[in-house]
Amino acid sequence: MRAYERLLNYVKYDTTSYENAPESVCPSTESQKVFAGYLVNEMKSVGIADARMDEYGYVYGSIPSNCGSRQPVIGLISHMDTSSSASGANIHPHIVKNYDGGSIVLNAEKHIVMSPEEYGVLGDCKGMDLIVTDGTTLLGADDKAGIAEIMTAAETLQKQNIPHGKIVVAFTPDEEIGRGTDRFNIKNFGADFAYTVDGGDVRHYEYENFNAASAKLTVNGVCTHPGDGKNKMKNAILFGMEFNSMLPPAETPAHTEGRDGFYHLLHMEGCEEKAVLKYIIRDHSKEKFEARKAYMKRAADYLNAKYGSGTFELDIKDSYYNMKPVIEQHMEIISRVEKAMLKCGIKNLTPTPIRGGTDGAMLSLKGLPCPNLPTGGCNYHSRFEFIPVQAMDKVTDILVALAKEQQ
Ligand SMILES: [Zn+2]
Repeated sequence: MRAYERLLNYVKYDTTSYENAPESVCPSTESQKVFAGYLVNEMKSVGIADARMDEYGYVYGSIPSNCGSRQPVIGLISHMDTSSSASGANIHPHIVKNYDGGSIVLNAEKHIVMSPEEYGVLGDCKGMDLIVTDGTTLLGADDKAGIAEIMTAAETLQKQNIPHGKIVVAFTPDEEIGRGTDRFNIKNFGADFAYTVDGGDVRHYEYENFNAASAKLTVNGVCTHPGDGKNKMKNAILFGMEFNSMLPPAETPAHTEGRDGFYHLLHMEGCEEKAVLKYIIRDHSKEKFEARKAYMKRAADYLNAKYGSGTFELDIKDSYYNMKPVIEQHMEIISRVEKAMLKCGIKNLTPTPIRGGTDGAMLSLKGLPCPNLPTGGCNYHSRFEFIPVQAMDKVTDILVALAKEQQ
């Protein structure tokens, strides 16, 4: 079975995770367990005899070494859930065969078209067979393509009796809501190092990501009758806007790229009496990350001095950190990727700094070095998500080359 055929099966399962589920509930949606059960059965059918799901919906399994030499235990990981930013139910994928480079009508009835002008990535896909949506849902290649590729690589290794060390596999729930590694059992997993298969372009592999924090600013104002407000009213909304105006206007997601960090105001609500502003803070550099957090604190202190102590309450929480310092201690796992990609004919290998986080970042910081590999998919979290069939085959080949015995 080819990887894309598996993907077409997997997208029948709605596995949208749910951000507002209580932290105590895992997985956040019961439907993920249904899919997990299906995966356990499929793993058994491709020869992963010890495939199992734990009480939280994490799926684990292993393929014993079939070679005599000493090889590291390699982990392969993908996530089962899909983002809630577009519907993940009733997905109707179709395949655009031998893509001609023009606009793709995703849905004639609803006039939904994906054009290469808007989605430049289509320019790289001419001649390929593209799995696209009907324009009303996401596809779910993020990250069911990763699962399909790992499953197919596992099958290939065994069917073709390719010599390899022990391979361990995990499929995790709730990655999209930032909880994918909360209950990941690193010790039982037993890998020396691992790779998440959760990226995009087949040339891209990733071992650096943002340092990340969230900040909640609560502004406590004083409301009076507006006609009687002189020297009395403290308008929390205006104070909140003043705080925001102290942040550098060019350091937002709309004005940054590559390794530039930012402050991102993602939610604001309030009235004169009370306002709440929610931010995320991101930076690849640990030093700059710390400086950003310190700057926000100074701004709040300054405004408290101006308007009275307790007016501004700033609560900053770290979310995750850059995996790069961890991976740099184990660069052999990156050269293993590069060798595998070259062997599979990938040109222009591109290590890419992730402008986000990955489960691999969390795992790396917890002691399991875990860079991120591509799936081949494009336009994630969107109704315009698609993946070329040939890219899925390529990633599967890369995984097989990666797992293969090395001298
Ligand atoms: Zn993903």
